[in-house]
Amino acid sequence: MTPSQKAGPHEAPTRYGIDRPTLGELITEWREPRYRADQVWDALYRQHIPLEKATALGKALRERLTTTLPLVLEPVTEQRDARDRTRKWLWRCLADGAEVETVLMRYPTRATVCVSSQAGCAMGCTFCATGQAGFERHLRADEILEQVARAAHTSDQRVSNVVYMGMGEPLANYDAVWASVERLHADFGLSARHITVSTVGIVPGIRRLAKEELPVTLAVSLHAPDDELRDQLVPLNRRYPIAEVLDAAQEFSEARGRRVTFEYALIAGVNDDTARAAALARLLKGFPGVGGAHVNLIPLNPTAGFPGHKPTAPAMGAFARSLESGGVTATVRRNRGTEIDAACGQLRSRERDQPVAAPSVRMSP
Ligand code: SAH
Ligand code: SF4
Repeated sequence: MTPSQKAGPHEAPTRYGIDRPTLGELITEWREPRYRADQVWDALYRQHIPLEKATALGKALRERLTTTLPLVLEPVTEQRDARDRTRKWLWRCLADGAEVETVLMRYPTRATVCVSSQAGCAMGCTFCATGQAGFERHLRADEILEQVARAAHTSDQRVSNVVYMGMGEPLANYDAVWASVERLHADFGLSARHITVSTVGIVPGIRRLAKEELPVTLAVSLHAPDDELRDQLVPLNRRYPIAEVLDAAQEFSEARGRRVTFEYALIAGVNDDTARAAALARLLKGFPGVGGAHVNLIPLNPTAGFPGHKPTAPAMGAFARSLESGGVTATVRRNRGTEIDAACGQLRSRERDQPVAAPSVRMSP
């Protein structure tokens, strides 16, 4: 059976879905020299150039490849911040029109891509634009990988880090997410430590992650130290309360010997009081792994469906100091890219409200 016959009508190979053996078979079927397969693979995963620009392949082969291995996302909008350190894309999935977002953040020593793992999200966190919009579907691994590749094509710096912090709950789409993680490691050459899976606290998923061979980094979105408040912000807490989430995170940390990061979206007058900081420190102090637990404090990004706002800078500083004096390290995250809506699900919701958002470049199809 030839590679082009092997894939059924719904599984035709795609640009970042085809694996290396199948590409080899395709190249042989086309009666091209074998080294061509290495060249193609190199262009896809090492050179960070679009296949259309891989001139070493020659025009005819390039054209045949780009038609046979189609891309699966088309850009709806692309935004950049003023200094061009952050870029954000809203993509339309060619399979069904679902829209997802990707962000590229370039820093002096690293470049990070934030990917979506689902179109929408079923978890319903009240302050999150994606949660407010509801669930559409899981993304496939090639749809996740193409987000990284296409962001990398625009970066003069090598993409060193990938975080699953865009739209969706990665552990609710475990198999596709894990397939993409393995290929980021094997094909894009990313170190597992530089791949961060962020979860709202799906306990069986965290335990499964703890048993995987690749030691990825885990981030757990906590947002409150007590179940009463967390129940309101994160509906999944009613199924997996804080104690169970922390127990699973501890298992992960012990299995890996690595510290776990906890994300905490700071919402003025809701979860930002220093009593809660002290309670959070009590919960996380003595967490296993080198350096214990670390808390990332994220100032709330405003969303249409939630009335809260971020605390003042002094209030956030006081919260961080209170955590530190309780023995837990904390970083107040700069809300990178807020000016271009580079936060979970916000670009898409804005686009839906206003078909052409002012600061964005609307791409022609
Ligand atoms: N579903 C996963 C990963 C995607 S969300 C999770 O919840 O962890 C990535 C991070 O963005 C999470 O920590 C989430 O709580 C946070 N987030 C979502 N909406 C936000 C908002 N409006 N302001 C600040 N942080 C937000
Ligand atoms: Fe889903 Fe994460 Fe948003 Fe919650 S915060 S709704 S889990 S994407």
